[in-house]
Amino acid sequence: MSLANKLTEERRARLAAERLLELKQAELFAANRKLGLHAQRLSEKIVRTRAEVENMRGENQRVKSDLSVANRRVAVTERRLWHTIETINDGFAFFNGDYELIMANRAYIDIFDGLESIRPGVNYVTILQALTDEGIVNTGDMTPAAWRQMMTERVQADAPEPVVIKLWDHSHMRLIDRRGPGGDLVTLGLDITATVKYEEQLKEARAMAESASRAKSAFLANMSHEIRTPMNGVVGMAEVLGETELDEDQRLYVDTIRRSGEALLVIINDVLDNSKIEASRLELNPEPFDLKASTEEVLRLLEPSARDKGLTLHLDYDHFLPSRLIGDPGRLRQVMTNLVGNAVKFTAEGSVTVRATGVPDHVKGRVTVHMSVEDTGIGIPKDQQERIFGDFNQVENERNRQFDGTGLGLSITQRLIELMGGRIWLTSEEGLGSCFGFIVELGVADEEAAPVTVPFVSKRKVRRRIKVLAAEDNKTNQLVLRKLLKELDLELVFANNGEEAVQLFQETDPDLIFMDISMPRMDGKEATQSIRKLEECSGRRVPIIAMTAHAMAGDEKQILAAGLDHYLTKPLRKAALIEQIEAVLDDRFVVPWPAQEAG
Ligand code: ADP
Repeated sequence: MSLANKLTEERRARLAAERLLELKQAELFAANRKLGLHAQRLSEKIVRTRAEVENMRGENQRVKSDLSVANRRVAVTERRLWHTIETINDGFAFFNGDYELIMANRAYIDIFDGLESIRPGVNYVTILQALTDEGIVNTGDMTPAAWRQMMTERVQADAPEPVVIKLWDHSHMRLIDRRGPGGDLVTLGLDITATVKYEEQLKEARAMAESASRAKSAFLANMSHEIRTPMNGVVGMAEVLGETELDEDQRLYVDTIRRSGEALLVIINDVLDNSKIEASRLELNPEPFDLKASTEEVLRLLEPSARDKGLTLHLDYDHFLPSRLIGDPGRLRQVMTNLVGNAVKFTAEGSVTVRATGVPDHVKGRVTVHMSVEDTGIGIPKDQQERIFGDFNQVENERNRQFDGTGLGLSITQRLIELMGGRIWLTSEEGLGSCFGFIVELGVADEEAAPVTVPFVSKRKVRRRIKVLAAEDNKTNQLVLRKLLKELDLELVFANNGEEAVQLFQETDPDLIFMDISMPRMDGKEATQSIRKLEECSGRRVPIIAMTAHAMAGDEKQILAAGLDHYLTKPLRKAALIEQIEAVLDDRFVVPWPAQEAG
């Protein structure tokens, strides 16, 4: 090869090597740049991670300090809670689901008076055993085993009923148990000794008050008896005297005596009723009765006073309202007499209207009776309307003062209506009139069940000579009875006590006996029982009519149960006495239920 060729080749090879170098240098440069970028990203990441780590470290510190604050709080709260639980006088204990004591406060532990076995871990059954074995609990009528059985069964219930246990020192504890999550049991033993003692004191005070009330009631009953007996003389003699020849002045005096006596009797009856209601001794005697007829009767009785004042009385009886109802007719009549009596008393002119409405519920067999008594009288001022239903309360103004009364009528009326389960109200405008309304729910009576009543017809044929035996220890009352019956052609024999009555019954064979109840040696009920015994062989039954001043609830039943046939309350009224005699004469003496039952 020529030199020139060699040089050319060498130059070519050098150029190729230079190009390769350039290429490798460019690659190296690019690789360096890539490496630089990567290193930059890496250092950026490291910076970020460092910041995050710093952050986390701070967070961790915060959580740590929060946790220790929370722990401190929990400890304080727990301390306070236990302090509180320890401070309360009531026993407090925790049991786990296996009825093992977890913890209990001092009040709970103290009950066991230092008994070592009562500590955390002890079982509920062991606690019950300790309570009975150590005589800590007074199991009363139950044997210790039965008591433990009862307590064990009780605590196993999902929601145990509270129970009161009595301890040896007469203290009382109410145990209240609540089941917690996981079957835990929280027991609270409330010391209710003070409450129980207070209840016992209340019971004692109540018993004392009741016995005082009974004593008051008995005193009033006796007083009424004592007052009625001489009043019998006053009213009866005034009636007898009124039938004799009298000049005008004398008649005025006699009428005044009779009216005052009757007014006094109304007061005695009011006081007696009031005390009976207060002593809860007033009982209602529901029976079938005719509401329309008994309302008419009340109006008929008050008609003369209304007529004297020029007032008209109206009765508006709803034709949908049945008249045969079941209720206490005597007490309803008393309510109506008081309301209509007041309406007449406090009305100078115009009218008094009684309305009775009510639609019966035939399915229930009952009806809500709505009755109202409306007058055109002096009215009652708004501010006095509530108080007039109170005991002895009357409207206090000049206009009202001219009327007499006890102020007991409306109080008795209201309480009677409440006793019947009803309600009374009043609307009134002073100077225009008053309207008293009340509702009571009554039973609807079966028409067939109505007792057949014999109409009262006077036959002056209200006579053969009949023999009447009267047992009466009081001489004045003997005189009253003799005078009241003097016009009748009868033979009247007096017995001074029950023993004499039985003897005279055998000796005289009377057609009728009037029998006082309270008498010395033998009372009227015993005498009647002896007479009924004596009659057993003859089969004859003489009508015996009680004459009594007793007017307490239940007296009438007792008297009839003793074998008497009828009952007259003193003071005796001539009309009532004569009616009994007429019944014997007409042979229509109806023997009432006690005798029918016995027969
Ligand atoms: P008393 O009629 O014996 O005074 P009451 O208890 O029946 O007792 O009535 C209390 C009072 O209510 C009466 O004194 C009277 O002031 C008032 N009063 C009752 N009814 C009426 C009436 N219809 N009109 C006006 N005042 C009445």
